[in-house]
Amino acid sequence: MHLDTSVAALNRVGKTLGKKLSHLGIRTVRDLLWYFPFRYEDFSQTVAIRELSQKEGELVTVRGKIELIANKRSPRKRTIITEALVSDDSGQLRVVWFGQPFLTQSLRAGNSVYFSGKVGSDMIGMVMKSPAYEKVHQSTPTDRTDTTHTARIVPMYSLTAGMTQKQLRFLVSQVIALSENIPEWLPETIVEEADLVPIQNAIRAIHFPEDSTDLLHAEKRLKFDEIFVLQLRAEMIRQTIKREVAPSLIFHQKEIKNFVDGLPFQLTKAQKIAAWEILQDVEKTTPMNRLLEGDVGSGKTIVAALSLYNTILNGQQAILMAPTEILAKQHFESLRGLFCALDISLGLLTGGSVEEKEGQSQHIISGQDESLKTKKQPTSLASRKRNVIEHIRSGGAHIIVGTHALLNGDVQFKNLGLVIIDEQHRFGVEQRKIIRDKSGHTTTTPHFLSMTATPIPRTFALTLYGDLDLSIINEMPAGRKPIKTRLVDPHNRGKAYAFIREQVKNGRQVFVICPLIEEKESHSKTQDINYQLEKKSVLSEYKKLSETIFPDLKVAYLHGKMKTKEKDDVMALFQKGETNVLVSTSVVEVGVDIPNASVMMIEGAERFGLAQLHQFRGRVGRSNHQSYCFLFTDNDTETVRERLAFFEKTTDGFLLAEYDLQTRGPGDVYGTAQSGMMQFRLATMKDGSIIQLARKLARDIDFAQFPQLKERVKEWEEKVHLE
Ligand code: ADP
Ligand code: MG
Repeated sequence: MHLDTSVAALNRVGKTLGKKLSHLGIRTVRDLLWYFPFRYEDFSQTVAIRELSQKEGELVTVRGKIELIANKRSPRKRTIITEALVSDDSGQLRVVWFGQPFLTQSLRAGNSVYFSGKVGSDMIGMVMKSPAYEKVHQSTPTDRTDTTHTARIVPMYSLTAGMTQKQLRFLVSQVIALSENIPEWLPETIVEEADLVPIQNAIRAIHFPEDSTDLLHAEKRLKFDEIFVLQLRAEMIRQTIKREVAPSLIFHQKEIKNFVDGLPFQLTKAQKIAAWEILQDVEKTTPMNRLLEGDVGSGKTIVAALSLYNTILNGQQAILMAPTEILAKQHFESLRGLFCALDISLGLLTGGSVEEKEGQSQHIISGQDESLKTKKQPTSLASRKRNVIEHIRSGGAHIIVGTHALLNGDVQFKNLGLVIIDEQHRFGVEQRKIIRDKSGHTTTTPHFLSMTATPIPRTFALTLYGDLDLSIINEMPAGRKPIKTRLVDPHNRGKAYAFIREQVKNGRQVFVICPLIEEKESHSKTQDINYQLEKKSVLSEYKKLSETIFPDLKVAYLHGKMKTKEKDDVMALFQKGETNVLVSTSVVEVGVDIPNASVMMIEGAERFGLAQLHQFRGRVGRSNHQSYCFLFTDNDTETVRERLAFFEKTTDGFLLAEYDLQTRGPGDVYGTAQSGMMQFRLATMKDGSIIQLARKLARDIDFAQFPQLKERVKEWEEKVHLE
């Protein structure tokens, strides 16, 4: 037998069990060895029967001889009780099981047996109920670690229906010796520096630890392996990028300072630091690869604007990409405002619209600006698009804002120096290549900056985005009114509606977020079903609000099944203030700025992660109006209350993300798609020190010297793609 042997070859694995194992992802011996316990029961302390009276309620192991064993019918319940009398040198103990009459087949008077379980007492005396048991191997009477189910730290696995712990443990015990054949993949230097136990020991001990220290060493080693693969992958990407050459964009301090002085507000310290980090970084001749993180409303746009401006001062073009057309337009308008006094020509290119603005002249070549309708050229969208694309090619357009339409085949830049992407965490390898090919440079690549409002704590970011440098804006501009957040009791729902009506009367607008529909299998296949369900929930909420609660107000709705154009139209009306209440799924989560909205009402709040609730809340409070966030839930459990209460009193997105990471895990917080950590079986966000260590050791590692590391990363990538 070897590591690739099918589990079907194991003792007592038939067709049925084989199928169940494959449900758990266990097909080979290797899979089985990497199927780690999710917890342990510590039965390692063998106690003399006489001592048991001091151990009531505790988990203990007793080793004794069965004096008597028999089945009898329970007088009250109609189950069979198996009762045994067990003795050791110090005394006697009763042991009972319920509904397992077959026990008398395998346990007989005279057998020496370990019993592990909780001890208690009843009218007759000390008793152990339904303990795990295991016959003592006669050959090694004193060797405790020879046991599998008792008298040791016992592994507990997650199972599927119709399987028992005992069964799985028995299977693992058959193959555990093969752990000796696992090849070590880490270079010796790493094992030494990180102070790790050999992989063979770790695998053996994660299933059958000798003691708690043994287990701790095993856990550390295996967690390190999980994290290290991710760090190596990031490091590979980082090294590839750092081999590329980028144009050095000189920091034009004087002009930037003048520009900042002209702003109607002072930059926060965090904004200054972030801008400085970026502007220093782009001076280098290796491409910047940086993530700018900042809570909703922390002012990332202005930091982006400074970087864009500095690029133009270097005579290069820059782009700002947004995930949706609405957001692209919004950025375009913001930049237009910010740069109105400068000689910069701005272009907008999305799937559905094009616009262009040139320097101080305010001349709009083509566009949809209402006030300039008269100047609008009587040309089709297609020809206006061609126009903008031509300006991009010739270098006439300096800063181009757009959607992924910027990556289309016909777009070609003259000399692209900086690429900023909003609401995305990183650039894919493909995306980079496309942009590099379009940049107009033959030997260099542009600098890259991504921006996100998703608060990702630093340790976690190090794990997921080890290849990126980080700039974090962790401070809000002064003078923001905190949003008043309330978890509303169901019986106060009427009051909340009355409050909303009052707000609308005062001219404000309201978001209502419908509950997330949870499908058990939320794989990409069922994404469409999720959208369908969400659509249903949005439509019924919309019906209720528009017909019963607010028949006199203008209510609109938004869901993921609508076409982009429909969504944009609904958003545009809301933005103009022509709709009072917008009922929506989580699609409003990203970016859109509606300064006039003052109430965010969230149904089924417990279904969302705190970081996501925080994103919703960030949709309001974007002006000087006092804003409110109302949470509703039908789930009255302690945990839910506690989580939502924490959300009520916490305004810091990073703290909220941290809370969720600790209590729910990264998959729930950031979604499966981004979470390489979903592949972790042992490591969690609490393993900050191992994460730091793995990152440190991965940094600057020489892949040429250790080809097995590259190999491992490839295997990991293939596995992740499969799952
Ligand atoms: P986000 O980080 O969510 O993208 P924005 O860049 O859209 O945030 O900024 C939110 C609002 O705050 C904008 O209206 C912007 O003009 C304003 N703002 C940005 N920085 C400051 C500052 N330092 N002081 C005051 N207001 C600021
Ligand atoms: Mg933004």
